[in-house]
Amino acid sequence: MAPEIKYTKLFINNEWVDAKSGKTFETRSPHNGAVIAKVAEGDKADIDAAVAAARCAFHRNSEWRLMDASERGRILNKFADLYERDVQYLAQLESYDNGMVTQMAQMAVAGAGKSIRYIASLADKIQGDTLPVDGDGFSYTLKQPVGVCGLILPWNVPILMFLNKVMTALAAGCTVVVKPAEQTPLTALALAALLAEAGVPKGVVNVVTGYGETAGVALTHHPHVAKISFTGSVQVGKLIQQAAGVNNLKRVTLELGGKSPLIIMDDADLNIAVPFAAHGVFAHQGQICVAASRLFVQSTIYDKFVEAAVKHAKGIKVGDPTDASVQQGPQVDEEMMNKVLGYIEQGKREGAKLMTGGKRIGSSGYYIEPTVFANVTDDMTIAKEEIFGPVQNILSFDTLEEVIDRSNDTSFGLAAGIFTTNINTALQFSKHVEAGIVWVNTYLQMGCQAPFGGFKDSGLGRENGLHSVDPYLEVKTVTMALPKKF
Ligand code: NAD
Repeated sequence: MAPEIKYTKLFINNEWVDAKSGKTFETRSPHNGAVIAKVAEGDKADIDAAVAAARCAFHRNSEWRLMDASERGRILNKFADLYERDVQYLAQLESYDNGMVTQMAQMAVAGAGKSIRYIASLADKIQGDTLPVDGDGFSYTLKQPVGVCGLILPWNVPILMFLNKVMTALAAGCTVVVKPAEQTPLTALALAALLAEAGVPKGVVNVVTGYGETAGVALTHHPHVAKISFTGSVQVGKLIQQAAGVNNLKRVTLELGGKSPLIIMDDADLNIAVPFAAHGVFAHQGQICVAASRLFVQSTIYDKFVEAAVKHAKGIKVGDPTDASVQQGPQVDEEMMNKVLGYIEQGKREGAKLMTGGKRIGSSGYYIEPTVFANVTDDMTIAKEEIFGPVQNILSFDTLEEVIDRSNDTSFGLAAGIFTTNINTALQFSKHVEAGIVWVNTYLQMGCQAPFGGFKDSGLGRENGLHSVDPYLEVKTVTMALPKKF
């Protein structure tokens, strides 16, 4: 049964309002393409209103700024209670709007409750230092919230992205304007309602649904936005970094894409490596920034591995994401489905060997067969660009030295993995691979305590972990003279 859609308007100053233009846009079911809701289409005028509300809520005399840090943490914990109360509904809504399979939605959405409490616990642990200073004096640092933050979300894991960014900004004491992805606007609105119910004062959290080219651009250019945190494509990440310097100097955190290498050494246990390699690239239809989309298999076991990988891919159950037994659902929308199918055609044209899959499934919804390519080489487009789809590209290598260099021969640097039973191999690879996250004999294992982000074009800064609030803070040094006589 379809979940009830309670919110489709903009959320500004704790009120639900229409877009000033009166416009709406459609959000569609990835399962069958049907329109599931018409949502307010915010643009520059609405971003201006939301930023004004967030700025007012950030005034030094506002309720939010005068609130003590423990109370801020208590409100975020209250939000965690409400989130856990509604977790089934939120998982259903995520699956409905995004196409995430129920298995994953329930696991990811339920796991996020831990993450909210973890970040909430940081709210009252933000503290400065006392410093030695030249001459007779006393110096200390204050860590203060940076101001109004613009948080621009992707469509692939909307709830997790909302929580990561909004919770961290609030724990730091900032106020926010959130711009969800146009493909998946619904869960951000549901979460905003829960934050208001938890007692977050008006204007602290605002959500403006709409398009990147209008609402997103207005947010990244707004002179009263102090910081932008963005997750999405490298292309837009670069535009955001430029926009951030146009009207003021915004702080920027970027979590962008990847072309993550996963290495299978010939001493690995294939009973473990084959399913993990498949999970690494087929989970969530391949729409994960850390997807293991370059699979390097040592030449001594290459044929054996490919055979097992193909068998595994053929066994993946694809279908309606609301069916609890389904492992792979639809791509998020028609555009993304066509983009992935385009990469598959290019792979074939450039000489990769299609071992299984490669086609759209049916004509309703945006389903693609789990696809495996063998004989992939480094120069092929499918080995270089982020596909964001269920496409496993298997390359061959001979030595560890060689595969480390080939792993690093990319502008990306988000994640990497290796399967081996040799500890020295694991340590050497982990040391030399250029990636922000390295997995050994596992893949996609994550936790809110572990910093997440990339080297090179995969991003700027880190989310999660003890230091996740730092990018939302300014450090102020205060120095006082000590009187000579007392
Ligand atoms: P995108 O980067 O275009 O969009 C992500 C978000 O940015 C959306 O909220 C969008 O409205 C907004 N946006 C777009 N243009 C903007 C602009 N000029 N200024 C400000 N905001 C803007 O991503 P997409 O087009 O939806 O997906 C394209 C590709 O991005 C995918 O194929 C995939 O490779 C990659 N992607 C990566 C991630 C990730 O987790 N790193 C997530 C989603 C998509």
